[in-house]
Amino acid sequence: MALQTNSCSGNAAVTMEQLCKWYGSFQVLHNVDLSVAVGERIVVCGPSGSGKSTLVRCINQLETHEKGRLIVNGVELYKGMKGLAELRRDVGMVFQQFNLFPHLTVLDNCTLALVRARKLARDQAEEIAMENLKKVRIPEQAHKFPTQLSGGQQQRVAIARALCMKPKLMLFDEPTSALDPEMIKEVLDVMTELARDGMTMICVTHEMGFAREVADRIIFMDSGRIIEQAAPSKFFKNPEHPRAQQFLGQML
Ligand code: ADP
Ligand code: MG
Repeated sequence: MALQTNSCSGNAAVTMEQLCKWYGSFQVLHNVDLSVAVGERIVVCGPSGSGKSTLVRCINQLETHEKGRLIVNGVELYKGMKGLAELRRDVGMVFQQFNLFPHLTVLDNCTLALVRARKLARDQAEEIAMENLKKVRIPEQAHKFPTQLSGGQQQRVAIARALCMKPKLMLFDEPTSALDPEMIKEVLDVMTELARDGMTMICVTHEMGFAREVADRIIFMDSGRIIEQAAPSKFFKNPEHPRAQQFLGQML
């Protein structure tokens, strides 16, 4: 489906058309076409090195594409564009390695952008932060420092911090891959609840139980290409591409 202008993007949160990206002479993304509707939950999976992180990082311009089009929340993105702060305000991102500020308390991690970028008064920012810490079920940790928390708790702080900005879209890049098994569920539970609340989500994850339960659509990548996309019921039962079959075989 070709877009003529930005205004035709309708209720798409993200539209990629023939997106290409290179790291030096290595082409990491090959003509990726993807449209994500507002409210849709996408799980991206595929072998290591297939370009999953690069794909999601392009969406908030942590990486830039060289060819093709990328439209996020109705705005076309390009290298050197202005308004990155606005873009990132609307696109929350949660990484594998939490990326919390170690010298700030949990509460201050959450209020920082609200006070600095949004220019909210301290008490107002704290109110929003506490609301979101409640949402991820750790309000009692507000005055601790990240290192005093478990990995699962730190990741939930990272989610709360992103939610404080009231993002239109949330990107997750293997949010549970660095966690001990017993902490994975508490993070996935929070993500599931977010999905139930209607958040538009693009999640790179190999948690196939989560994918099955939460995703509207699974995107399978291999060597910088989307080689299969399907509803979870179809993808898990009857993957078409041999690489997807092989990948799922290894997951079991
Ligand atoms: P995935 O998240 O699926 O593991 P990535 O998007 O991280 O894949 O990486 C895709 C490919 O691009 C890999 O071959 C990786 O080595 C390469 N790559 C990733 N980041 C860089 C970079 N900053 N510079 C050069 N090559 C990179
Ligand atoms: Mg990755």
